[in-house]
Amino acid sequence: MPLTDVIVVGAGIAGLTAARRLQDEGLSVIVLDKGRGVGGRLATRRVGGARVDHGAQFFTARSDRFRAQVDRWLEAGVAREWCRGFRQPPDGHPRYVGAAGMTALAKDLAGGVDVRVGTAVGGLTPISAGWAVATRRLAGDGGGDTRGAITTPEGTGPGDTGPGDTGPGPTGAEKAGAGSAASSRAVLVTAPAPQALALLAAGTVPLPAESAEALGAIRYDPTMAALVTIEGPSAVPAPGGVQLDEGPIRWVGDNLAKGVSDVPAVTLHASGPESTARWEEPPDATLSALLAAGAGWLGPSRVIEAQLVRWRYAQPTVTHPDRFLVAVGGPHPVVCAGDAFGEARVEGAALSGWAAAGELLERLG
Ligand SMILES: Cc1cc2nc3c(=O)[nH]c(=O)nc-3n(C[C@H](O)[C@H](O)[C@H](O)COP(=O)(O)OP(=O)(O)OC[C@H]3O[C@@H](n4cnc5c(N)ncnc54)[C@H](O)[C@@H]3O)c2cc1C
Repeated sequence: MPLTDVIVVGAGIAGLTAARRLQDEGLSVIVLDKGRGVGGRLATRRVGGARVDHGAQFFTARSDRFRAQVDRWLEAGVAREWCRGFRQPPDGHPRYVGAAGMTALAKDLAGGVDVRVGTAVGGLTPISAGWAVATRRLAGDGGGDTRGAITTPEGTGPGDTGPGDTGPGPTGAEKAGAGSAASSRAVLVTAPAPQALALLAAGTVPLPAESAEALGAIRYDPTMAALVTIEGPSAVPAPGGVQLDEGPIRWVGDNLAKGVSDVPAVTLHASGPESTARWEEPPDATLSALLAAGAGWLGPSRVIEAQLVRWRYAQPTVTHPDRFLVAVGGPHPVVCAGDAFGEARVEGAALSGWAAAGELLERLG
C-alpha cells in the first residue's frame, strides 16, 4: 500500500483548497469524498432543462488571500461578479458566483488533484508510518447525510443531476473499490463536525477528550431547499436574489437572472428554524409548504417541476474560534477544518483549508 503524504477527507472548498496548497508545495495528496461529484455544499444540479444552485448561492471576498483566489477565477472565467447587494440601496460589496454554477469553483480547484468521489471514509487506524484510511465505494449518489433525501412532488426518489453539473462523476471513485484502504502520513478531515466525529469514533483513533469536546461543541442549522422550474419569468426583483430576515423562507434566488440557468428556475431556502421544524416530516409535505410560502416569488407562471433537497449540516451556528483543530498531534497529525472553523461561509471554508494545509506543511516538514 503506497504511502501518501496527506489524505484529505472531503472535496468541498476547504478540502480542495488545502489539497491544492499541499500539492503545490510538493506533497502527495489524495482527496476522498462520498458525494458523486466535487463541491460539497457548492452544489449545482440540473432540474429539467434548468441549471440550479441549491447549496451556496454566492460568495464574498473580504480577505486578501481569498481575493487573490477570486481574481484568478475572474480572470479565467470560472467566476464572475453577480451584483453589489440584494437590498435597496445595495451595500456596494461584490457578490460573486461560479460562472457555470457554484460547483464550477470546486471543479476548478480539483483540476490536477487526485480526487476520488463516491468514496466514503469509514475510519482511521494508526500504523507505524501514519494512518490506514478505510474507504467504502458508494453506488449512485453518495451525497449521504450532508445532503439528505431528494424528492420530486411525484415522489420519484433521488433527483438526478443530469450531465455535467456535479463534478467528475465516479471515474476517480472506481480506483478505490469497495472496502479498500489507503494510507498516509497525515489526515485532514473537512467533513462537517458531527460527521468528522463519527469518522474518528469509527476507527481506533486515540482522540484526546478536548478534541472530541471541541468538535462536539460545533452546531449547525439544517436547510430545506426547493428547486423549482417555472414556465415564465419569476417575480424575483433584480438582481435576482432576495434575502429575508423573517418568515419561513430565508432566501429566494432566480437562477436565470443570476446567469446560471438558460431557463426560468428558482431556488427557495427555508430558514433554519423552519427547516428544523420540518426535518422529520414527509418530503412531499415540506415541498408543498415551501412552494406555498414562496408562491409570491414564483409569480403567475406554472410550476413545471419541483425538487426538495435537505441539507442536514447547512450553516454552522456555533463555530470553533480557530481556523483548524489539530485533533491528534504528533508526527502523524489528524487535522480538522471547514466552514465551522472561522467564518461560516465559502470564504471561511477556503481560509480554513488554506490554514490547515499550512499547519500540515510545518508538521510534515
Ligand atoms: C443551503 C446552503 C446555502 C448556503 N449559502 C451560502 C452563501 O450564499 N454564501 C456563502 O458564502 N456560503 C453559503 N453556504 C455555506 C457554504 O456552502 C459552506 O460554508 C461551504 O461550502 C463549506 O465548505 P466545506 O468544504 O467546509 O464543507 P462541505 O462543502 O460540506 O464539504 C465537506 C465534504 O465532506 C464530504 N464528507 C463528509 N463525510 C465524509 C466521509 N465520511 N467520507 C468522505 N467524504 C465525506 C461531504 O460529502 C462533503 O463534500 C450555504 C450552505 C448551504 C447548505
